[in-house]
Amino acid sequence: MAHATVCLTADFDAVSPWLHAFDGDSPVNCSRGRFGADVGAPRLLDLFERHDVPATWFIPGHTIDSFPEPCERIVDDGHEVAHHGWSHTRPSDYESREDERADIVRGIESIEGLTGSAPEGYRSPSWDFSAHTVSLLSELGFEWSSSGMAREFEPYELTEEVAPHDGPYEVGDPVGITEVPVSWQRDDYPALAFSGNRAFSDEAAVFDHWRRQFDWMYEHVDGGIYVMTVHPQVIGRAPRTGMLGELIEHAAGKPGVEFARVGDMV
Ligand SMILES: [Zn+2]
Repeated sequence: MAHATVCLTADFDAVSPWLHAFDGDSPVNCSRGRFGADVGAPRLLDLFERHDVPATWFIPGHTIDSFPEPCERIVDDGHEVAHHGWSHTRPSDYESREDERADIVRGIESIEGLTGSAPEGYRSPSWDFSAHTVSLLSELGFEWSSSGMAREFEPYELTEEVAPHDGPYEVGDPVGITEVPVSWQRDDYPALAFSGNRAFSDEAAVFDHWRRQFDWMYEHVDGGIYVMTVHPQVIGRAPRTGMLGELIEHAAGKPGVEFARVGDMV
């Protein structure tokens, strides 16, 4: 087992989240998603190719059905494709279990059309679960999820949970799905995407923060998993893919570090 594993993950949302944006699905908002598909994703794929590292791409069915070309290259380049909803609807926004189930099933069908097989992994849009998500993932045969935050650098068992407002919180029984935790601290979106109310981030400070997190894990956690989440429409803007390349080189330069697709690591 590697002393440290890096899982590079790309949430290829393209236009899908803009259909639910607080300020609307305007053509300009949608153009940010088009940038991700037309420019950001190819730049990211070029970067991964140059460094010869595998990645896991979480692709909403809406992206697969709207922008088939970059999605086909993702498969051709040997990356893993995992589920990220069809419509990129935040799970707790569904009115019923049936509505959420239908969107997940539609997303599975889009991925089957792209790769020829059903996805093993799921990442929820907006890193949110509804009261039904865990049971739906179990019912639909997912093997792993990458949406939770109960650990920092170690996978854990996904469980049904009960969180009443008038009683103690209970961790339920494992459902047979491995959770590979994410972190808002290692996500380019909150750090680097303009959302109408945030000042421009110091890019160098953000990448330094990510490097220091890797170094901390490397020093303190044997067998740690460093999950990095990027969005083609955010990380694909100049000069960020170059800075991500430096982070990849930094991690790859240490002994005992492997880069793995999430499914292979699970
Ligand atoms: Zn997303």
